[in-house]
Amino acid sequence: MPIGDFVQDPPHMPLTALGWTAERQKAFAPYAKEGLVPGRVVGEHRTHFCVATQTGELTAHITGRSRNEAAERSDLPGVGDFVAVRPSIDDGPAMIEAVLPRSSAIVRKAAGEQRPQLLAANVDVVFIVTALDNDFNLQRLERYLALVRESGATAVIVANKADLPHDEAATTGLIEGIAPDVPVHRLSARGAGNLAELEPYFAGNKTIALMGSSGVGKSTMTNQLLGHNAQSTQEVRAHDSRGRHTTTHRQLFVRAQGGAIIDTPGMRGLELWNPTEVAEPSFEDIEALAAQCKFSNCQHKTEPACAVRAAVARGELAAERLSSYVKLGRSLERG
Ligand code: GDP
Ligand code: ZN
Repeated sequence: MPIGDFVQDPPHMPLTALGWTAERQKAFAPYAKEGLVPGRVVGEHRTHFCVATQTGELTAHITGRSRNEAAERSDLPGVGDFVAVRPSIDDGPAMIEAVLPRSSAIVRKAAGEQRPQLLAANVDVVFIVTALDNDFNLQRLERYLALVRESGATAVIVANKADLPHDEAATTGLIEGIAPDVPVHRLSARGAGNLAELEPYFAGNKTIALMGSSGVGKSTMTNQLLGHNAQSTQEVRAHDSRGRHTTTHRQLFVRAQGGAIIDTPGMRGLELWNPTEVAEPSFEDIEALAAQCKFSNCQHKTEPACAVRAAVARGELAAERLSSYVKLGRSLERG
């Protein structure tokens, strides 16, 4: 379920509420002299960006030059970036002229794709969300953790849907085992007040991003964490610089209670992407088969009623693919 578009909170927002810091102010100073204004990218679209500024939200573009000069797609602005914007002159569009240095960058580098893509910038903490009832997958958690470690953000694991029946023994201690230094919260996003233990992460107007498979409860959490004022999901109609109607899909939400939440489509289904520079094959096909194995911890070696080996026997899955999958699984368990 996609989270809707929330009507933007106060039109006049102090920069600190957006996560502005003294350090960012310092980085911005040279641009202030050129008449540029500071802002934060809250939405990224095919043709434009939505930038929150002290005086409201702008539709902004990037110069053709910066598009051409960007060596990597991740050099271009993305959701969460702090930017220097030249306000619109003579009905022209506002232009993003510079991206301020990032304190963290969540970058997705797809196997076989040359240019890494920026998913979210300046994220302080990533909530890696998993659902205890059936989403639970240790290897996937490992990959998320690797991705967050590379980004410069801090990881927190949120094991959601604790209210649903789940195999307590299968998860207890396992998460802690792969990441002893990462806080783990077992909770249920359903129900008011259940997320109170996550509030401290927002202290000091921190930016939190949610990562996790579809269906684990990220939208539910986002809505809960934003609070009731922001709940009304409705499309925001805005005029862009040329007077056209554009629908703005916000991806960064500033909380009335302080702090911001980033929940972008790109952060969903990241388990299909490779967190490291080394191209790592995805094994969706095998994972789908493995779900049919008799034993949930099937190693696809000698176990009875193994759906994966059955597929190899039927000639539907290459034996080499299975062996590289098994190898990858082993290396992740050891790591
Ligand atoms: P998303 O795809 O990660 O954004 O997941 P959603 O927030 O759309 O949630 C998927 C489904 O799980 C919805 O039907 C939610 O109502 C449900 N859900 C979310 N959190 C919980 C929870 O803590 N307990 C239970 N039982 N259901 C939940
Ligand atoms: Zn099996």
